[in-house]
Amino acid sequence: MSFRSIEQLLRRNSKIKISQSIANGIHDQKEERSVQALRESLLATNQLPEKFDDHHVLLRFLRMRGFNVIKAKEMFLNMLKWREDCAVDTIAKDFKFEEFDALKRCYPHGFHGVDRFGRPLYIERIGSVDLSKLMQVTSIDRYIKYHISEQEKTLSLRYPACSVAAKKHISSTTAILDVKGLGMNNFSKAAREMFIEIQKIDSNYYPETLHQLYIINAGSGFRALWKVLKTFMEARTLKKIQVLGTNYLSTVLEAVEPSNLPEFLGGTCTCSATGGCLLQDKGPWTDAGIIRASKEPSARHVDSTCGRKRTLGMLLLEDNQVANQMSENTHQKQASEQISGKIQELEDCAAQTKETLETLICKQKELGIHIEQLRELLRDDVPAEKKTSEKEK
Ligand SMILES: [Zn+2]
Repeated sequence: MSFRSIEQLLRRNSKIKISQSIANGIHDQKEERSVQALRESLLATNQLPEKFDDHHVLLRFLRMRGFNVIKAKEMFLNMLKWREDCAVDTIAKDFKFEEFDALKRCYPHGFHGVDRFGRPLYIERIGSVDLSKLMQVTSIDRYIKYHISEQEKTLSLRYPACSVAAKKHISSTTAILDVKGLGMNNFSKAAREMFIEIQKIDSNYYPETLHQLYIINAGSGFRALWKVLKTFMEARTLKKIQVLGTNYLSTVLEAVEPSNLPEFLGGTCTCSATGGCLLQDKGPWTDAGIIRASKEPSARHVDSTCGRKRTLGMLLLEDNQVANQMSENTHQKQASEQISGKIQELEDCAAQTKETLETLICKQKELGIHIEQLRELLRDDVPAEKKTSEKEK
């Protein structure tokens, strides 16, 4: 490696560090400013119900709209209108889904533990769904109400419980969708309509609650169907989806510990005592102690739904502390890895530099010898030249 490339390497490293710290600083400030702007704008028009006066809730809408406050406000107000039109609070409180057990039998799905970060893990075996039976046991309208009630439960119970269990703020879900056997032929018009309706609800009214979706066992039939389905999805959501074939396990295990993954997906859990993994709503949210703790005021620094008793200033401070701590840990780990890599790189550089220097010193010595030899030649030539010019005279 030459001196120039060493210099370039060092310059590049310091540039990366500077641009990273600038980007992080700007990003945090930008988030804070945007949340404050959105909050003030909603308060000014008296359109911020206490329930949603929460840093993380507003942040989700801002993120979904690329931090455009006007667009985020529009989206937020659409959500409020939808909640009123569909009586979402009533669904969350009073909706009874009596066909739950029958639905689970023809449509295996449910929450099952957490991912490695502590987010709820949701699993759906859509490829095993018996659609004709599903339509017998429930209706599209009731299924959608059930879906909404589950979303509300995730916001009000699952995320706060996961936050307490993981000791950090949790506000998104990791999902696995097993599409084995699913294709154009067995995904009827009714099923497509239901899928699109649920997609619409999730991305419009529960934005940014999906952390990552792994679609597994995708065959050629599903891939053809996927081309159609993805046209109904937001680009931001699509970025969080990985479509995997039958070799999905190593990718999924990066996100989920084997003990939290059911045996039928390649993990080690069987939930044999409770009749199977997807029948029980297994997770920190079923632990009475954790639920109690998540409702205590001391848990509020990690609880996104209980922030209404705090002022925004307190909210920003506390949640930023949690966020900063989280990002600090992640950054520290990333930074350590980067630094180790750079040390190795620079050690290689130093070794190469030493080699180059030794070669240059040798060259310098050789050149010195050559110069001396040439000087000697010149000294020998001078008397001869003198003699010639004397003869000419
Ligand atoms: Zn299990």
